[in-house]
Amino acid sequence: MISGGTVAFHTLGCKLNFSETSTVARQLSEGGFARVNIDESPDVVVINTCSVTDNADSKCRNFVRRSLKSNPIAYIVVIGCYAQLKPEEIAAIDGVDLVLGANEKFNLPYMLVDLSKKASGLGEIRVGEIKEVRDFIPGFSSGDRTRTFLKVQDGCDYFCAFCTIPLARGRSRSGTIAQTLDSARDAIKRGAKEIVLTGVNIGDFGKANGESLLELIKELDKLGGGIERYRISSIEPNLLSEDIIDFVAKSTKFMPHFHIPLQSGSDDILSAMRRRYRSDLYRSRVDYIRKKMPHAGIGVDVIVGFPGECDSSFKQTYDFINSLNISYLHVFTYSERPNTTALRIDDVIPVQTRQNRNKMLRILSLKKQREHYENFLGGISKVLIESSEDEDLIFGYTPEYVRVAVNMNTVSRNTTTSLLLKTINPNGFVHGSVN
Ligand code: SF4
Repeated sequence: MISGGTVAFHTLGCKLNFSETSTVARQLSEGGFARVNIDESPDVVVINTCSVTDNADSKCRNFVRRSLKSNPIAYIVVIGCYAQLKPEEIAAIDGVDLVLGANEKFNLPYMLVDLSKKASGLGEIRVGEIKEVRDFIPGFSSGDRTRTFLKVQDGCDYFCAFCTIPLARGRSRSGTIAQTLDSARDAIKRGAKEIVLTGVNIGDFGKANGESLLELIKELDKLGGGIERYRISSIEPNLLSEDIIDFVAKSTKFMPHFHIPLQSGSDDILSAMRRRYRSDLYRSRVDYIRKKMPHAGIGVDVIVGFPGECDSSFKQTYDFINSLNISYLHVFTYSERPNTTALRIDDVIPVQTRQNRNKMLRILSLKKQREHYENFLGGISKVLIESSEDEDLIFGYTPEYVRVAVNMNTVSRNTTTSLLLKTINPNGFVHGSVN
């Protein structure tokens, strides 16, 4: 292994990818590599990719080209879901030197033996069979002192009709509660104030060794050392038990905020998507959360334009979501992915129709968000101050996932401050002031 040199990282995609980039970065820094920015002529560039949509693939290709503009002799390594799914396509991109799969990415330090760029032709491919991937490599994101993405689970056994993640990340697996607590303690020691439990299907935590997500969150709740908040990033409705909701309702550290993928409000479409619940179960989860935590933040993933989604099933989805007391939507437009069973469904929805439906649900999301935010106006909320995105304002979130902006000179970063929530800004946040 080459010791020493400079390395830059670029991460595309989900929270899990950010936690894994940090894990690889820590491995390389233990090997003497110094982390630099992409425009500081790094010796090595590591691009961690996503492959959820076509767009994700092209973003990766664009970033390879940008990296080479900044340093034509940089050794380019591509990891992540796109690398596991389409290694040849990436290796053929001019300038790519090494492509690593889901298992191999954590061995990167041992693969950096010769940083000389490949003369021409295909980059080197080290991508194993996804079926062989069994190891769970724990990790957490660092570099953003306030909020840390803690990897608690990886892979998925569900094989929903539109999804390539099981093909990119393998079967569901997780570490033990003890291992996960060790990672959490490490993140807390590095200053994390908020930990977001992250994975692919985190409700599956502990399935292989008889442990459970509920047991894990109970143990995390007991940790001290300066951790103030936990969030459960995204959890399948059929794995979100009433016990978990009850525990979060009682806990002072687990935030009253849930993100629950719905994907469709039509039971026929849910069945075609091979989802493991129907709309009645979804509604019962939302209603139970509202009973226990009336103002909790509830986020919903929804896909528009899935094959067979005729006007009436889309109307069902729209009306179903409109009837739910939820807080915001993440709206995705269906995108054909190789080797998914959805490709076998004939009734393809025109792209323009998909985009129109996406727009309608984004407007509905703004309405829901406004209703959610209005619950807190005129009241005092505890906000964990995170990052600034504009010269005078700095932002943070309340426990119920209300995004709040406050004058930068009145608060300190990475601290929890009581703020009076005053007015809603059309850009999707609330103006607050120190109380
Ligand atoms: S639950 Fe379905 S959508 Fe989610 S990662 Fe697994 S296969 Fe994909």
